[in-house]
Amino acid sequence: MHVIIVGAGVTGLSTAWALIKRGVEVTLIEQGPIPNPLSASGDQHRIIRRAYGGQGGYQRRISDAYAAWDEMWDDLGARHLVDTGFMVISQEEGDEGEDYWRGMVEAGYSLDQMSPQEACARYPFLSPEGLRFVAVHPEGGVLLCQKIAADMRAFLLAKGARLLENTKVVAVDRAAGRVTLESGEDLTGDRVVISAGAWVLKLAPELDSDLTPYRTAVVYLEPPADLKASWEAAPVILDVGGKVDGYVLPPVPGTGLKFGAGIHKVKNADADQNRGIVPGEGERLRNHFSPPFGRISEYQVSDVVTCAYTFTADNHFYAREDGRAVIVSACSGHGYKFGAVVGQKIAEGLIGGDVDTARIWLEARD
Ligand SMILES: Cc1cc2nc3c(=O)[nH]c(=O)nc-3n(C[C@H](O)[C@H](O)[C@H](O)COP(=O)(O)OP(=O)(O)OC[C@H]3O[C@@H](n4cnc5c(N)ncnc54)[C@H](O)[C@@H]3O)c2cc1C
Repeated sequence: MHVIIVGAGVTGLSTAWALIKRGVEVTLIEQGPIPNPLSASGDQHRIIRRAYGGQGGYQRRISDAYAAWDEMWDDLGARHLVDTGFMVISQEEGDEGEDYWRGMVEAGYSLDQMSPQEACARYPFLSPEGLRFVAVHPEGGVLLCQKIAADMRAFLLAKGARLLENTKVVAVDRAAGRVTLESGEDLTGDRVVISAGAWVLKLAPELDSDLTPYRTAVVYLEPPADLKASWEAAPVILDVGGKVDGYVLPPVPGTGLKFGAGIHKVKNADADQNRGIVPGEGERLRNHFSPPFGRISEYQVSDVVTCAYTFTADNHFYAREDGRAVIVSACSGHGYKFGAVVGQKIAEGLIGGDVDTARIWLEARD
C-alpha cells in the first residue's frame, strides 16, 4: 500500500510514522519546511495534561496518548516531553479552571488544592486578588513540538519515506487517490490522507460547515528578574480562571515563558492571511493575565507568534472518509497532545480498511 499524506503538522507526521512502522510506503507532502513555523504544530511547545473539563471522552483517552508518545520516544531515541505537572486556577464560580478541577476530581485524581494565600506563597508570580483556589497535579507537562518534528523528519527519511518539503498540493481527486502539486505534477496513491490543518478548506471547501479556521497569537514574555526562578519551576497552567480562557507554558530548557488566551482568537477564512503581528498585540495579550498575576506591566514582550487552527462546533476532533481519501484533524485547540495516537488510529484504520473505528475514537463521544 502507498499512502500520500498532505500536510506535515503533528497529524501528518504521526500518521506517516505509524504507517511506515507497519510497512506501508509513505509520501509526505508539506507546503513549507518541516517543521513549518506557520502550522499549528510549529511553535516551541504545547501542553499535555490529564484534566479535561467537560470532555470526558478525551480524559479517558489520555493514557493512550501518553502510551503513543512513549512509543515515539523509543523510535526517536529521545524523550521530548518535560514533566512540569499542571495547575488550574479558579477566579469565579463555574469558570473553566473549576471545570478542569471538577473533571479530575470526578475521575478520581487527587489534586493538591491551595487557598489563595498558600498558592501565592508557593508561586510568587500569583497575586491573591480575585483568586478562589489553586490546584496542582504532577501529571502534565510540555511537549517540545519543534524537536519532535525535526526528529520525526529524520526518522521518516531514515525509514525510506518520500518527503516533499516546500511543495504545495493544489488539488486532491479523492475518488482516484490523486494529488496535484503546484508544479502541475500528479501523484497517485492507494490512499490519501489530508491533514492540512487550517488550510483544509482550500482543498475541501465544502467542509466549511464542519470546520472553522481561526487566527490567534501567543506571546513570549521575559518575567521580572526576581520571578524568573519561580516561573522556571512552575507547572503548566491549564486555565488562569475568569473569562479569558488563558493558559501558560512555563520556560523549560530551550523554550520561553508563553501566554495564550482563547478570547484572542478571531474567525479567519484564510490561514495565509493576517499572519503579521498587530502593533501592541503582545502587550494586549499579556494584560489579559492580570489577575491572576501581579506586576504584569513588568513582563517584557520578547516575541509574538501568530497561529492558524481549526475548530469544530463542539471542539471534538474530525475525521471523514471520502473515496480513497481521509480528511483528518486533531483540532479545536487541544489536538497536539493526541497527535501520536491519532496517527496510530488513522494508520490502523487505513491498513485494516476500517477508518470509521478511527473516526469514532477521534470524536471521543463515549
Ligand atoms: C495557540 C495554540 C495553542 C495550542 N495549544 C495546545 C496545547 O497546549 N495542547 C494541545 O494538545 N494542543 C494545542 N493546540 C492545538 C494543536 O496545536 C493542534 O491541534 C495541532 O497542532 C494540529 O495539528 P495538525 O497537524 O492537524 O495541523 P497543522 O499543525 O496546522 O499542520 C497542517 C500542515 O499542513 C500543511 N499544509 C496545509 N495545506 C497544504 C497543502 N495544500 N499542501 C501541502 N501542505 C499543506 C501546513 O503547512 C501545515 O504544516 C494549540 C493550537 C494553537 C493554535
